[in-house]
Amino acid sequence: MFPATVAGSLPKPSWLAEPDKLWPKWRLEGADLAQGKLDATLLAVKMQEDAGIDIVCDGEMSRQHFVHGFLEFVHGIDFGNKVEMGIRADRYKAMVPVVTSALSLKGRVHQSEAKHMRAHTQRKIKITLPGPMTISDTIADRHYGDKVKMAMAFADLLNKEARALEADGVDIIQFDEPAFNVFMDEVPGWGIEAMHRAIDGLKCTTAVHICYGYGIKANIDWKNSLGSEWTQYEKIFPALAKSKINQISLEAINSRVPLRLLSLLDGKDVLIGVIDVATDAIETPEQVAQVIADVMKFVPKERIVASTNCGMAPMKRQIAEAKVKALGAGAKLAREKFA
Ligand code: ZN
Repeated sequence: MFPATVAGSLPKPSWLAEPDKLWPKWRLEGADLAQGKLDATLLAVKMQEDAGIDIVCDGEMSRQHFVHGFLEFVHGIDFGNKVEMGIRADRYKAMVPVVTSALSLKGRVHQSEAKHMRAHTQRKIKITLPGPMTISDTIADRHYGDKVKMAMAFADLLNKEARALEADGVDIIQFDEPAFNVFMDEVPGWGIEAMHRAIDGLKCTTAVHICYGYGIKANIDWKNSLGSEWTQYEKIFPALAKSKINQISLEAINSRVPLRLLSLLDGKDVLIGVIDVATDAIETPEQVAQVIADVMKFVPKERIVASTNCGMAPMKRQIAEAKVKALGAGAKLAREKFA
């Protein structure tokens, strides 16, 4: 009961990439970089195991950014002439690559780290992929002429990689869809359909992570503008509850999402954020167990998974490690108290 997992990313070691950055530059090249990514993956796995995390991630050590780490492996995208685009409904400006022809995969995307993890841990392993709606919101289009058509093309590529990851021994494949919290009407409209295309034929557990973003300034300012109760999820939870996705990951601690909304996710496992990634203050196991207790009022306890609010990539490494320890200890305490 109350297994623990992280949302996905962890800070990279400073010998691998620039620390404390969301888009860090690599500090190794060529064969050294390839080996360094795997070495860092192993450290991330060990750190999670030692902290008592039940479902371990690769920490996204092999990708510079959660969206572009996938896009690098896709034919039909021009990375040489990036254009500035307002993303997440103009919450931030980013320099994004451009789709210039029909999309196809260059080969495997996350095979190395998936196999490396599978070879080195007995625990369940999870790999994250960017969701089709979020990808389509993080890239410019000069080929498809239609956002939905382009998203479906990405969904087919994601499906191909997801099926291969399942064959590599990955237990859980999670799609990160922060855009689900931006385009509320489009989620029931076509977002879920794109997700279903991405998970088509998978037998492993599937998850979707939705959130209010990393703890960076643009997100903190946006959250401050949303009022005292964040009820946007009311619009998308019924559609998610009806979907074929097994698990929904979202933030809870220090969030203004009213927990009563979780009852709209009837039938789903809920990965509940018990660790705040927007503050360096380290949670106590008691705080973590309290969030789990609060969530138990709305979600059956056998469906609760303890997680982080979002990825930890831009955090300081020591802070992230202390938070992951608090996560493991808090889930254990909750098991002792409520199981
Ligand atoms: Zn997130």
